[in-house]
Amino acid sequence: MKVKEWCMYCGECAGVCPRGLIEVREINLIFDEDGCKDCQICIKACPVRALEKEE
Ligand code: SF4
Ligand code: SF4
Repeated sequence: MKVKEWCMYCGECAGVCPRGLIEVREINLIFDEDGCKDCQICIKACPVRALEKEE
């Protein structure tokens, strides 16, 4: 997952991931990419569109 520089670290995306794969650590988002099922719920939940799928 690519995190844009305007991410506010609000934790919204972390709160909606059904698998709990996103962790907000101060000014970092930690993704457990291995378990990601690409549902993109986190991308849709971000109020400022700061998440982008990495190709
Ligand atoms: S919801 Fe968006 S702004 Fe908030 S922590 Fe996630 S990526 Fe950053
Ligand atoms: S795409 Fe779905 S499974 Fe992957 S991190 Fe986002 S919410 Fe979690």
